[in-house]
Parts: sequence; structure tokens; C-alpha cells
Amino acid sequence: MSILVMKFGGTSVATLDRIRRAAKRVGREVANGHDVIVIVSAMAGETNKLVGFVEETSPLYDAREYDAVVSSGENVTAGLMALTLQEMDVPARSWQGWQVPLITSSAHAAARIEEIPTENILKKFGEGMKVAVIAGFQGISREGRITTLGRGGSDTSAVAFAAAFDAVRCDIYTDVDGVYTTDPRITSKARKLDRIAFEEMLELASLGAKVLQTRSVELAMRYNVKLRVLSSFEEMSDDAGTLVCAEEDIVESNVVAGVAYSRDEAKMTLQGVADRPGIAAAIFGPLAEAGVNVDMIVQNISDGGTTDMTFSCPVNEVKRAEKAMADAKAAGAIDFAGLVADTDVCKVSIVGIGMRSHAGVAAKMFQTLRDEGINIKVITTSEIKVSVLIDRKYLELAVQALHDAFGLHRAA
Ligand code: ASP
Ligand code: MG
Repeated sequence: MSILVMKFGGTSVATLDRIRRAAKRVGREVANGHDVIVIVSAMAGETNKLVGFVEETSPLYDAREYDAVVSSGENVTAGLMALTLQEMDVPARSWQGWQVPLITSSAHAAARIEEIPTENILKKFGEGMKVAVIAGFQGISREGRITTLGRGGSDTSAVAFAAAFDAVRCDIYTDVDGVYTTDPRITSKARKLDRIAFEEMLELASLGAKVLQTRSVELAMRYNVKLRVLSSFEEMSDDAGTLVCAEEDIVESNVVAGVAYSRDEAKMTLQGVADRPGIAAAIFGPLAEAGVNVDMIVQNISDGGTTDMTFSCPVNEVKRAEKAMADAKAAGAIDFAGLVADTDVCKVSIVGIGMRSHAGVAAKMFQTLRDEGINIKVITTSEIKVSVLIDRKYLELAVQALHDAFGLHRAA
């Protein structure tokens, strides 16, 4: 018996008609001899609507109740998918996260999967059930409360099920036909990649490419899950989409595999903080506790007594960051003269495993931006990526220029 995991994102289950189209694909895989685990997202737009309800009701909401509300979108599509399959005479049954039970940590709104018992579902497959439909994105904590895995978390549900059931493959059906060198909405020269390495996909995902949740790529890499991203709107074929795989399985690739961006960044500068041992810990400890996802960090050269500390975070976390810093100041843990938030910036990054063995990639990026007259505000690098913070109005221009400069429209 071979188990295949098929995950359908929000746009692929946005209407009853699309659910029927997705169910037909599932039916074909059942006909091919697979037992199928289907993971569904909420209908497109539903989760955003639910998040909106929560934020309007309670701006600094209790995360346990947030999870109770936002997890519900997936319950609807899981039941509807099972019903649609039954109407097509495919034996199917739905499971909400708690019924599996998919056990997670109790970090509400950002929970981690800890355990997926397989017995219940395997028993049903043994009794002739062909499809287990699972509500993605959700689980249950050991305290018995509903949890969610963070936005985009149904990708992670899918990979985790693929790992737990030792699936032959994990197919992620979405509204694009694969992973692109950059967002095709920004440049028509963006090209679909046939293959991309786990490490590259991990960087692209965490740098803002929305096609897969970062955590799902981490899990796929760790458990060597064969992960494929493909469109639910195109005809089925065996080489469709993009395969996310180990570096060894890629014969040739460009030095830079892709350009990623994250539009809604903020640059925060704490002015006049004491330049003393422990100051970074005193600043970033409270930020972490407040749930602020700090990304880039720069500490200025000190004039002796004080210095400026700059960091970036998502725009919608600025309020939390400001409050955490004001509270830390009031408690006497830190002192600073001012806190300036620049909320009109974005982050643009280039990513590629080829950077490990090629010099001059960062320099070429900076020259390209200079030639376009784009000022760089903060830079960070890792072994396989370079990121810059720039004014948001230059986002499209920067992505297009970098895509051209590194020749990403051509295959290696
Ligand atoms: N519905 C959830 C979200 O929009 C989970 C998912 O679709 O992956 O974030
Ligand atoms: Mg998604």
C-alpha cells in the first residue's frame, strides 16, 4: 500500500466547483492505486476574514481564542471535501486536527507539531477507506486546547503527515504552477524552476516567497520528504510543477536561484542606548517575549557612552515592539533617548547555493541597486543569501533589476 499526500490551498478549494475539481484529482490518484491523505486549507479569504473578526473584537487578543476562531475555516473544507468524494463514490472520511489527534506545543497561533499518531487512519485504510481528509493548519495542545500552526500552516500539516505516514510524495496544489525565480506579478521574465534545493527554498520561504510555509520546508528537509509544488488549475502530468529536493539531486543551477521580497517591513531605531555589556540582551529579550519577529540587526559605532541600535520587523508588529521597549524602559531595564519607526521599507533578497562557491555576488547586487539609484538602509548576509532593506517604493524596480542582472530568466 502506498500513501500519497495531496494538499489543496485556499484558492484550490475556494468554491464548491473547485472542491469538485480537486476531488477529481484525488479520485484519479485513488484509481492509480494510492491511499490518499488530503490536507485542506480554508476557502480563500476565509482565514483573513476570521483574523479580522478577532482583531476587531479584541486588539490584544487571547491567542487561545484566536486559535479557536481561525482554525474553523479548515473544518468547513475538510467536511465538504469528504462529502464531495463520497458523492463520487470514493470512500472518504474527514478528521479535524484534534480527532487525529495532531498534538502540538501550546504556542498558540504558532504551534509546533509534536506527534501524529497513525493508528486511527491506518486502521480505516485497512477497512477500505481510500481517502482521509484532514483539516490543515490546526491541532490540539496537551492541555486539550485547539491550536494553529501559523499562517500558511497547512503546508506544514501536509509535510508532517507525509513524514509520519512515510508517504511516497507530498504534492502541494496551489494557484501557481511551481516555484518561480521571483514573483511573476513583478516581472514577466520570472521563470518556473523544475527543481530547487531544500536550503534555497527554505531561504526563499523565510524571506517572503509565499508559496510554502517556511516550517514545512524545514520539515521536508529533515525527513527527506519528496515535496512537489504544482497548480490545481492545470492538467495533471508527471513532471508538472517544481520538485523541492536535496542539493545532490540538482544537476545544474544558477549562482542565484531566486529573488525574494517582503513588502511590509519596518525599520526601528533605538537612539542613545547605553553601550555596555548586556544591552543587546536587554533589548531583544523583551522583544522576543512580546512575540516580535526581529530580523536584521545593526548596532552603530559608539561615540563612547551611547549608541544607536537598529532592527527590522514586520510592519504589523511595530506597536508590540514600541510597547515592549516602553515597558522595558519604565521597568528600568534599558534606557534610550528615542525610538524611531520607519514603516515605509521593504526587504529584497537574492538566494542561491551557488553563492558558497562564487565570489562577488553581493558586490554585483549592490552595484545593480546603485545603478538604479536605490539607497540601501540595512544589509544582512548568510552563506547562501544577501538581503537589503530599501524604501518600499523601489521594491518592483529592485526585484526587476536584480532578476535581470543575475540572468534569472535563463536556465543554467
Ligand atoms: N488557512 C490558513 C491560512 O490562511 C492556513 C493555510 O491556508 O495554510 O493561513
Ligand atoms: Mg499557503
